Amino acid sequence: MAVDPLIELDGVNKWYHDLHVLRDIDLTVGRGEVVVVIGPSGSGKSTLCRTINRLETVQSGTIKLDGRPLPEEGRALARLRADVGMVFQSFNLFAHKTVLENVSLAPVKVRRRRKEDAERRALALLDRVGLAPQAPKYPAQLSGGQQQRVAIARALAMDPKALLFDEPTSALDPEMINEVLEVMRQLARDGMTMVVVTHEMGFARASANRVVFMAEGRIVEDRTPEEFFTNPRSDRAKDFLSKIL
Ligand code: ADP
Ligand code: MG
Repeated sequence: MAVDPLIELDGVNKWYHDLHVLRDIDLTVGRGEVVVVIGPSGSGKSTLCRTINRLETVQSGTIKLDGRPLPEEGRALARLRADVGMVFQSFNLFAHKTVLENVSLAPVKVRRRRKEDAERRALALLDRVGLAPQAPKYPAQLSGGQQQRVAIARALAMDPKALLFDEPTSALDPEMINEVLEVMRQLARDGMTMVVVTHEMGFARASANRVVFMAEGRIVEDRTPEEFFTNPRSDRAKDFLSKIL
């Protein structure tokens, strides 16, 4: 199915001391694909995201981005981080920088863009997520949903090859969830390669090419949303779905 692989994990295992958190993970994400990762708390979803971005090392297996093994350190690692944007549950904006600076700083530092160019691009991206008027404000002056949309614009400013989302709406009040999901749905339609850890099953049904269900560090199911939601194979997935749907 994934004819043009962008992210490839092959036999990945990770331990935290004695705790085996990722077990024999094989996962390929094709260019332009949206993969939603779901599973119980503690099943390894965040760790999976962090290993793809190399915020964590693994003890065995290989991870490739665009056909190349992930770099160990140094400049190549910084470039990799820029190529794979990450959006966290807790926004992680710089509190003492304006919205515009939050979006334009990294392109100047890491991508060596000219400041004026980076700011022009940042404004265009803020406009795309509906926040151009908020450019001069500070994060604390924004709602949670607006802050998360700034975080998405900031990730996009690096022209990433892929975006990882780790429960991007879990910290939001219910009325703000949809404005963030709408931005994500649009990105999916525009062909962005995305790995999305979320409990938003509506998003998974509407936007995911595949649903990956994890339990205890393993990928238990990897199927289309249609197949997964209408006919989950494993007892673990059935049990999980019965609790959240
Ligand atoms: P999920 O995101 O699915 O809830 P995580 O990837 O956060 O799961 O965690 C998987 C397991 O690894 C959990 O048992 C968690 O307690 C453990 N874990 C996560 N991060 C660390 C860490 N830095 N050190 C030790 N154990 C960790
Ligand atoms: Mg998590």
